[in-house]
Amino acid sequence: MKHSISSLISAAEKYLPDLNSKRLQRAYDFADQAHNGQLRKDGTPYITHPLAAAHILTKLHVDEDTLIACLLHDVPEDTVYDLKDLEKLFGKKVRFLVEGITKLSKVHYHDNMQERQVESLKKLFIHSAQDLRTILIKLADRLHNMQTINAIPKPEKRVRISKETLEIYVPVANLLGIWELKSQLEDLSFKTLFPEEFKMIDENVKKTNIKHDKLLKRSIEAVKKLLRSYDIKDFKIEGREKSHYSIYRKMLRQGKSFNEIFDLMGIRIVVADVGACYQVLGILHQNFTPKLGRLKDYIAIPKNNGYQSIHTTVFGIDGNLTEFQIRTEEMDLESSYGVAAHYFYANGKNKKTLKQKWQRKSQWVQRILDIQRDIKNNEDFIEGLKLDVFQDRIFVFTPKGDVIDLPRGSTVLDFAYHIHSDIGNFAVSAHVNGKPESLRYILKSGDVANIETSKESGGPKISWIDQVNTALARNKIREYLKYQSKDKLIAQGEKQLDEKLKVFGHPGIDAITKGQRGLIQRYFEQNSWKSVMTEIGAGILDPRELIQVVYSEEEIMGEEAEPRRASYSGEKVPEKVHKVHFYIEVINKIGMLRDLTSALADLEINILNMSSLLTKDRGVNILDFYVEIQDLKQLEKAMFTMGQIPGVIKVTRIQNGQ
Ligand code: MN
Repeated sequence: MKHSISSLISAAEKYLPDLNSKRLQRAYDFADQAHNGQLRKDGTPYITHPLAAAHILTKLHVDEDTLIACLLHDVPEDTVYDLKDLEKLFGKKVRFLVEGITKLSKVHYHDNMQERQVESLKKLFIHSAQDLRTILIKLADRLHNMQTINAIPKPEKRVRISKETLEIYVPVANLLGIWELKSQLEDLSFKTLFPEEFKMIDENVKKTNIKHDKLLKRSIEAVKKLLRSYDIKDFKIEGREKSHYSIYRKMLRQGKSFNEIFDLMGIRIVVADVGACYQVLGILHQNFTPKLGRLKDYIAIPKNNGYQSIHTTVFGIDGNLTEFQIRTEEMDLESSYGVAAHYFYANGKNKKTLKQKWQRKSQWVQRILDIQRDIKNNEDFIEGLKLDVFQDRIFVFTPKGDVIDLPRGSTVLDFAYHIHSDIGNFAVSAHVNGKPESLRYILKSGDVANIETSKESGGPKISWIDQVNTALARNKIREYLKYQSKDKLIAQGEKQLDEKLKVFGHPGIDAITKGQRGLIQRYFEQNSWKSVMTEIGAGILDPRELIQVVYSEEEIMGEEAEPRRASYSGEKVPEKVHKVHFYIEVINKIGMLRDLTSALADLEINILNMSSLLTKDRGVNILDFYVEIQDLKQLEKAMFTMGQIPGVIKVTRIQNGQ
C-alpha cells in the first residue's frame, strides 16, 4: 500500500483531536530531507519505511510524540543528523524515544541460541527500553521490515531476520498483549521460514473461505436478527480469521489435519458489557444446539495472559459447526492492542476492571501497574515507566554473544559461575569490555566479560564468598571448599578473620584473647578454636558475625556521632554515623585526590577532613582522611572501592589512639 504524510495526518486526527499536524508534517519533511538519496532494498525512497511504520502505529492510537519519533527513528543511525539535532527541532521527549530505539537496535540475536539465552534476550529487550512507547515503535519498525523482507536478496539474511522476529519480537508483542501486531509478525516469519507449509495452509484457507463465504454471511445475518429480537441493540458482529501460523501450530500440536482444525466458521460478537455477554451466550444456546465440551468461559476465568472472552461452538445454520467468541468492547480492544489499549485508549471509566485484569499478567507488568496506581496523569505514567521493571536484573554478554542474566550487583565471579562451575572455580583474571578488571568487579547491563581460567589457580578462596552476589555462586564456592583438607580450611579461616579484623583497625587475630576465644566457641557451639576456623574457612561462618560477638559496634566503628553533613538536594542523611580515620598510600599523580573523593561521594560518604600527611618515598604520598561511615558494610565497601582505584597502593583503617 502506498502511504503519504497527508493520509498519516488524517489517520492520526481521527483519534487525536489536539494533534499538531504542522509539527507532524515538519518531522516528515525533516526525515525526508535527511534520508534524501537513500533507497530501501526494494528501490523505494527510504522515507517510505518510517512513514509505513507510523501508519501501523496509528492503529494503536499512539500519541503525537510517538508518531514523530517513529518518523525520525532511523535518522541518527543512517544520516548526518544526531540526537542533539532532533532535540533542538522536536524537543526532549522525542529525542528520548528515538534514543531508546537506537539502543534497542543494539540488542543482538545470534543463530542457534539456546532457549535460556533467547529468554534473556527478550528481557534485555524490554529492559533496555526505558519507555514502553519505544517498544511499540520498534515493533512497528520490525513489522514493516518483515512486510518488505522479500526485497532482501540473501536468503540466509531473510531466515535470520525471520527467526529473530519469531523468537524475540513475537514473544515481546505477545507479552504486551498486542495480538494485532503479534499475529502479523508471526505469519510473515512463518512464510519465510516454512514457505511450503505456509503455501499449503494459505491455499486451504482461501478455498475454505470461498466455501464459507456465503454461509458466513447468512449466519451473521441470522444471528443479527436473533439478537435484535431479544432486544440486544448495542453489538458488533463479524467473521473471524485465524492466523496461518496458529493453524499450523494447532495442526502440529494436536496432530490433526487442516480440515479438522479449520473446517469451522468463526464469528465474533462484541457487546457493551459483561452482562450482555452472558445474555448473548444464553440466546445462542437456546436457538442452536451447543457442541458438548466446547464452552469456555474466559471471562470468569481469564487465560494466564489476561485474555478474556466466552467461547462456544454450536451446530449453526444448516447444522454447520460455528465457533463464537463473545466479549465486551474493552476485552476486544485489549485482545488486539494489549498494553497500548491501556495507554492510549483508556478513558477512565473502566479503570477498576482494567486493573484486575492486569494483575493476572506476568510480574513485571504488575510492576507497571504499581507505577500506574501511584501516578494519575497519563504522561507522568509513561515517564514513570522508565523501566523500574527489571531494574533489579542485568544482562551481560560472553565474548561469543551469549547472554547471562544476573541480579543487579553481580560481579565478574558471579558471571563466571553462571557460565559453568569450572569457569568460576578456576577463574584467575577477567577482561570487561576489553579492559582488565578484577574478579570482584561489579558488572552492568551490556558489559561483555571474558574470563581467563587456569587449572593451577588453586581453586576458589574463602574470600570469594564476599565477592559474589548470587546464591548459585556462593553455593558452588562452598561446595568446592568443603572438600579441601582441614589444615587448609583452618589456615584460610585464620587469614580471613585476620583480614576482617584489620579492616576495622584491630591489630589482628593474634590479639584475640583466650577469654574472647572461649566466648566465641560457646556462642557458635563449637568445641575447639580450630573448628571455628574450619567453619570460617569453609564459608559456613561469616567472620563479621564473629567479630560482632566480641566487640560492640562502638569498638568496631569508633564513637557514634551526629552526621555533620546537611541534606541539600533532599537525599536522606543517616541519623547516626561513625567518624572513621584512614591512611591511604598513593602514587603521587594528577587526579589522584579527585578519584578518591569522587569514589567516596558515589558511596554517599561524607569527608570531614583530609590532608597529605608525608611523603614516604619519592612519588608516594600518604593521605589522611576522616570520613563519616554508617556501618561495617559501608566501611568495607569504602576500603575496597578505594583500594581498586589505579594508583592506590594500600588503604589502612586507623583506630583511635593509634
Ligand atoms: Mn527502521
